[in-house]
Amino acid sequence: MSRLVVLGGAESGVGAAVLAKVKGFDVFLSDNGKIADKYVEMLKKWDIPFEEGGHTESLILSADEVVKSPGIPSSAPMVKLLEDRGTHIISEIEFAGRYDTAKKICITGSNGKTTTTSLIYYLLKQAGLNVGLGGNIGTSYAYQVATEQHDYYVLEISSFQLDNCYDFRPDIAIITNITPDHLDRYEYKMENYVRSKFRIIRNLRSDDCFIFDSDDAITVGHLSKIVTQAKMLPFTQKENVELEQGAFIKGDKMVVRYEKDDCDIYLEELALGGKHNIYNSMAAALAAKASGIDNKIIRNSLETFQPIEHRLEPVLSVKGVLYINDSKATNVDSAWYALECQKKPVVWIAGGKDKGNDYSVLNDLVRDKVKALVCLGVDNTKLHASFGPILGESKIKDAGSAEEAVKIASEFAADGDVVLLSPCCASFDLFKSYEDRGKKFKEAVRNL
Ligand code: ADP
Repeated sequence: MSRLVVLGGAESGVGAAVLAKVKGFDVFLSDNGKIADKYVEMLKKWDIPFEEGGHTESLILSADEVVKSPGIPSSAPMVKLLEDRGTHIISEIEFAGRYDTAKKICITGSNGKTTTTSLIYYLLKQAGLNVGLGGNIGTSYAYQVATEQHDYYVLEISSFQLDNCYDFRPDIAIITNITPDHLDRYEYKMENYVRSKFRIIRNLRSDDCFIFDSDDAITVGHLSKIVTQAKMLPFTQKENVELEQGAFIKGDKMVVRYEKDDCDIYLEELALGGKHNIYNSMAAALAAKASGIDNKIIRNSLETFQPIEHRLEPVLSVKGVLYINDSKATNVDSAWYALECQKKPVVWIAGGKDKGNDYSVLNDLVRDKVKALVCLGVDNTKLHASFGPILGESKIKDAGSAEEAVKIASEFAADGDVVLLSPCCASFDLFKSYEDRGKKFKEAVRNL
């Protein structure tokens, strides 16, 4: 019996362990930290041996193959030890892909993954297809492969998952865009991060599709250096560009062209606002069209999709001020798009754990749209230094909690303004996660 060891006992790792059990492996799971109760119960229910709070070398080094959870960096000592011994280390996605014959639409990129993945899932559901949603969202892909039967999967795949993919092959692969993020895991080399994202297309065949943003210089630059046989489906918002195949803008419409058939959608009918969501809608519509979904269903779905929590999510209007929760904007690029699509004066709440941000790309938007800034972080010096000269120090105030930030923002805001939480930064200095930050923001708004 082949021995499979899983490192990491959260959603991804436990899903992989359950699949291994179902497939008859001698499986063992090991987590260096504490495993959440929910997953301990699952492991017990499936009768899977496990350990937590440390790794026992003898139990791990005896593995024929190892599934590494994406949260564990390849620099972790146990991973190094396994690599030195030549043990094959794969990701949960690679493992589950071996047992799955469904058509797979896989999405990676720096920003817009969850939105695009959710849009595609919604589109396929509306078309009545039997589809599973997985990867970084909800129930793990491996657990679904172990316990469910789907004809399609829509999978959000992070670069950490891709790092240990080798033979995994999507039918449709999407890179939404590539901007600097998570460079700490890639030796601070952009090239390594880009290469990791591009692993999503390495096994594509000639009848598979690659959907990508042809306005993104990094994506296009890397594409020019590699060879792929896949069908290329670019999307662009550049003016006066008409593609033979792909998605582009024509007047007030977005045109999605696949195999000489066009699906047109009025931009103002799109359910999700903002330039970034036009890109996401284009990518999703291309995936749907390449999956043979009817134009009417595509149009209708893009018009009726509901915003996802923490992504430009309208919360409430209080005294004529609309509060928007964009807590998931954890880097400069996503906050750029959030500011770009605002049509009313903005009281902007930003800050948190800075990942080496260069805020200067926001200067014009801040000058044009922002009337005041509330800094929500432990160390706000960089925000003051960047935006003090633009807004004036009297328009920048610090807050130590979501409640305080909302209170200060409400004092800055007047009837007709918007209060936008779009932090540009990770949340870990003051909050457990971006979800925690967004939820506390919404609670504070409701209590105003
Ligand atoms: P991801 O899953 O890649 O983190 P999300 O869909 O969760 O992406 O969106 C994360 C943040 O980025 C949100 O603040 C959202 O408004 C913004 N965003 C969404 N799509 C894009 C895009 N195509 N380009 C830039 N920013 C985007």
